[in-house]
Amino acid sequence: MAAFRRVGLFLRSLTLVLVLVEGATPATAVVLPLAAQPQAALHSMAATPQRAVAQVPLGEGELALMRDLLVANGLENQLCDPVGQMAGSLADVLRSGGFAAARCAGERSYESLAQGRISLSQAVDLGSDCVALDLTGNVIKSYSPESSENSAVLSGRWINACFSDTSIWAQRGGTMYGNTFLTSAAQDDFLARPEIAEVLAHEYRHTLQWRLLGYGFPGAYLIAGNNACTNIFEITAGLEDGGYVC
Ligand SMILES: [Zn+2]
Repeated sequence: MAAFRRVGLFLRSLTLVLVLVEGATPATAVVLPLAAQPQAALHSMAATPQRAVAQVPLGEGELALMRDLLVANGLENQLCDPVGQMAGSLADVLRSGGFAAARCAGERSYESLAQGRISLSQAVDLGSDCVALDLTGNVIKSYSPESSENSAVLSGRWINACFSDTSIWAQRGGTMYGNTFLTSAAQDDFLARPEIAEVLAHEYRHTLQWRLLGYGFPGAYLIAGNNACTNIFEITAGLEDGGYVC
């Protein structure tokens, strides 16, 4: 696990490739230095995912369902233990490892949020047009360099979205960093897309994956392969919603 978490240190270089993968044009095979990855993880994650798995429906229990589907597709070693079985006295919980599981999940959620804030703040500083969006494409709030509320946490289902982003981390198709979506597309063009709700639902499911894997997510995504049609993270995020034709 320690080796796997070190992947977080390579976040920037890995996400560059993520950009290529997530872009509208399918990227050619990318050769990456994977020495930091445990061989066991490589084998389990390179296995062909179960194509019968549908995208995770959004609603109550969506995070647990995403976890279950990833576990069912060989990612058990990369995920925190389930924290659902925390019944009984506090002593029982501590004895059964529930505290460690809760801490693991909490740390990864924090990493996801931290990455989202970093990406949001960098995009705002670069002059990108950043807003918080609900999953139907309504703007909940706008961010600006002068605002002290750029790191405000909102409840419910939403993502930060930064448009007209000129950094190398953004591509026209868009890429999720924690809960922040960077794209070079213009806000008006993007929000006017007829399938906007589907696209946002797809990207939101990637935030669920970030919350489950923390800084391990970019590495795990790469190992799952740059063919979206067999990448378990794209499959569970919804291939059709993401605009992939398989
Ligand atoms: Zn995707």
